[in-house]
Amino acid sequence: MTQVIVTAPAKLNLALDVVGLLPNGYHELDMIMQAVALYERVTIKRADQIQLFCQNPIVPLNEKNTAYKAAALFFAHTGIKGGAHITIEKNIPIQAGMAGGSADAAAVLVGLNVLYGAALSLSQLCELGVQIGADVPFSLVGGTARVRGIGEKIEPLPTPNPSAWPIVVAMPGRGVSTPQAFARYDELGGGVHPDCAAMAYALRRGNMAQVCSLMGNSLQATGSAENTEDICAVLRSHGALAAMMTGSGAAVFGIFDGEQEAQQAQNQLAKEYRFAVVTHFINCGTKIAAIKE
Ligand code: ATP
Repeated sequence: MTQVIVTAPAKLNLALDVVGLLPNGYHELDMIMQAVALYERVTIKRADQIQLFCQNPIVPLNEKNTAYKAAALFFAHTGIKGGAHITIEKNIPIQAGMAGGSADAAAVLVGLNVLYGAALSLSQLCELGVQIGADVPFSLVGGTARVRGIGEKIEPLPTPNPSAWPIVVAMPGRGVSTPQAFARYDELGGGVHPDCAAMAYALRRGNMAQVCSLMGNSLQATGSAENTEDICAVLRSHGALAAMMTGSGAAVFGIFDGEQEAQQAQNQLAKEYRFAVVTHFINCGTKIAAIKE
């Protein structure tokens, strides 16, 4: 086997609750995460060293890149003496709160595991993943899940019917740095605390009206992102059942119950913002898309 192509999806937070501050300075979170049909596509070839390629000039092509970190950790953990030529096709907006960097790391872990025949289990990949970033285990698993701790405790939930609930995601001009958003949360405190246990129950019962009414994000009130309320207002004016910022921002999404309304909201948002798409929920995570022998 000489090459693998891996796809890794973006996530949205249907709920994000900051529940505490751990002694090491990490925030303890309780979240409902949802994978959506927007994918990073990562091509990995065997090589002597770790080399990164990406057409997006904002993405760092060095050891700070999550894909690089994942490859270095994989080789250190397995003891395999190898390298990888990694090409990232970036489709998830950067600094959006959609786990784009985490998706790249997840893709590299899954790809190298197959390319080098390491046979690590999904839970072993998750243990490696959480050392790179809190969202990496969820990027690996995907679907719908309640995610706790610093991202390592994943409880899978049923995915709402993708065709019944179209999603519109829009991204303002400026992204948000996740550490800065948390620092601001620590300064300001307070904010909303969505009930993730109640949302998990509503998802199990397939009660989407209840899911929408329980949506909330502790980080939204920090105001770290620009245009959050403007985008929410456009989404609601086109009939979104709920609209909210995802993760630490800056992307905002709305849940619709009709394709036409979703399309109209997207058309409107695309006139004002650099990224606006209609997408849908998916019930999977990072996957091998193709293998070349
Ligand atoms: P998350 O929801 O995981 O916090 P995010 O949308 O907030 O994701 P990313 O897009 O993952 O943020 O990346 C944030 C920063 O990390 C970027 O500004 C960039 O400098 C750096 N970075 C490191 N690796 C990557 C990568 N593979 N893709 C994009 N950015 C990366």
